[in-house]
Amino acid sequence: METITASQINIQALFEKQQQYAPELANTTATERIARLNRLIQFMDDEQEMQGLKDAMYQDFRKAEVEVMLSEIAVVRSHALHARRELRRWMRPHKVPTPITLLGTTSYIEYEAKGVSLIISPWNYPFNLTFSPLVYAIAAGNTAIIKPSELTPYTAAFMAKAIKKLFSEEEVALLEGDASLATALLELPFDHIFFTGSPQIGKIVMAAAAKNLASVTLELGGKSPAILDASAAIDTLSYNLAWGKCLNNGQTCIAPDYVLVHESKMDAFVGAFEKSLKRLYTDLPSLESNPDYCRIVNHRHYLRLRRLYDDAISKGALELLGGTWNEAELFVPPTLLGNISDDMAIMEEEIFGPILPVLPFSSQEEVVQIIRKRPKPLSLYIGARNRRFINYIMANTSAGGTVINDYMLGFGNPNLPFGGVNNSGIGKYMGFHGFVAFSNEKAVVKRNFGTLSVLFPPYTPKVKALMAFVQRRLL
Ligand code: NAD
Repeated sequence: METITASQINIQALFEKQQQYAPELANTTATERIARLNRLIQFMDDEQEMQGLKDAMYQDFRKAEVEVMLSEIAVVRSHALHARRELRRWMRPHKVPTPITLLGTTSYIEYEAKGVSLIISPWNYPFNLTFSPLVYAIAAGNTAIIKPSELTPYTAAFMAKAIKKLFSEEEVALLEGDASLATALLELPFDHIFFTGSPQIGKIVMAAAAKNLASVTLELGGKSPAILDASAAIDTLSYNLAWGKCLNNGQTCIAPDYVLVHESKMDAFVGAFEKSLKRLYTDLPSLESNPDYCRIVNHRHYLRLRRLYDDAISKGALELLGGTWNEAELFVPPTLLGNISDDMAIMEEEIFGPILPVLPFSSQEEVVQIIRKRPKPLSLYIGARNRRFINYIMANTSAGGTVINDYMLGFGNPNLPFGGVNNSGIGKYMGFHGFVAFSNEKAVVKRNFGTLSVLFPPYTPKVKALMAFVQRRLL
């Protein structure tokens, strides 16, 4: 499929068009923004349109229809419905308390649109991770230029058509292209850049944003650990974990990357995981023909996974569970690897596929030590019934989010901020946090009566005494 290169599009002209329109859009009312959200919602409610999306995703990486509905359409729809419900409240100035020293004033936060925003999205949930940020860009009154991933070209083309149908170019525009287009866009002085992708490209985006001092939200990835304590409900959690690891074929930013299992539960875990796969899909040997199990997105990523696997095996990893890979079909079976050591690339890089290293642990201190050796994860999964164990892990680790006794759910509640910390991301979104990500929180102080002039020069002994009193008693 043909992609448009940066040189083919006059992105400067498009940017200026949006820049000119941005102040008008920033002054739109909640009703006007809700009308735009309604356009999106109606689009997602149109079954024929959504069939087009399902077809595109099947062509891109054989994603199962139910997974498109669950992890793409339903997520964006729930963001849009939530934003529609809450927008009036979000847009209202938020009053804050006034300290006694500012007696006679009132203070509030006004949420002002940042202006022209850039949304760069990845391929793994191409619709969700493009349209969810867009919901918040619209809710906050921003214009948006979108650059989706070139690795899912059918979905990108589908979204380009949709955006053209739903919005005028000065309001929202979607440009198809690869890294060169992203690089060209990043030279423009956007007011906000919302990037979802790898930490490696996140650093490039942040460096480019620094040139214009554009604010950024970086939704990145990394190695999200799952812990299964001796006190955990092993059967249920293995089943849920197998689902979380195989959803989208492990190509999920919050997929459990590796699992730390209490040494007394290693065999039980491997057995339960295998049983779970059978329950979710079928026997491992016939999994390849199961339509519910999707594929690795392209050959490069298939080879990347093969390199991680081969490197681990060559350094002594043992395949606890696995099957036959099929390069032509980009099929990688769910694979459990044991006897893992730190010198394996699989314990350094984000796996982003259905391979799960299994590491035994004997104490909570050991768990913390393994996790803290690596950059802070996007998500941390604690499987345990023992409250003290949970508290210990929570208190001694840092992660963008934590899910206790389940998997993936961190993305499901729009009332929670979603995002990473340091290497796994900067900034948060979802619900009100998404609205804030695209807003300037303008601090407003209004004087109603009184004055501070008693503390103005000349600094007589009386002023000095008054200042000393203020400092001692009123601050
Ligand atoms: P990626 O970083 O390779 O690409 C993301 C986007 O950046 C694409 O649109 C790509 O065209 C663009 N890009 C590529 N090179 C660029 C450059 N030099 N300058 C500017 N833009 C460039 O990521 P990916 O492979 O598409 O997605 C997988 C990664 O994304 C994983 O690390 C995953 O964990 C992460 N991710 C994070 C979240 C989250 O919400 N935190 C969600 C999904 C994926």
